[in-house]
Amino acid sequence: MLTLTCPYCGVTVEETELYPGGEAHLKRFGPGSTDAEFESYMFARKNPKGVHFERWRHAYGCGKWFLAARDTVTWEVFGTYSAQTPEPPAALVATIKQKRPGWEGWK
Ligand SMILES: [Zn+2]
Repeated sequence: MLTLTCPYCGVTVEETELYPGGEAHLKRFGPGSTDAEFESYMFARKNPKGVHFERWRHAYGCGKWFLAARDTVTWEVFGTYSAQTPEPPAALVATIKQKRPGWEGWK
């Protein structure tokens, strides 16, 4: 079972206490964007075999949204952090690169 640590209340919980929110760090496109950019924002999502950044809500706890980096194959969790973080923390990216040398990055 997937377990994540909420960065706000510090509690490590099973995924049954969480609500999934899909891919993290989506770039929003609004008025003035092209149809292709808006379509990409609305419908295109990554589905990697390996490192993935996701949104989760501590639904049966503090109720706050947070972000998590994990491996979709091994379910190894690299870390969790605030949802107000526009990019993954540099220390977390360094940790992932150390554990997954062939990883191409989060973008
Ligand atoms: Zn929490």
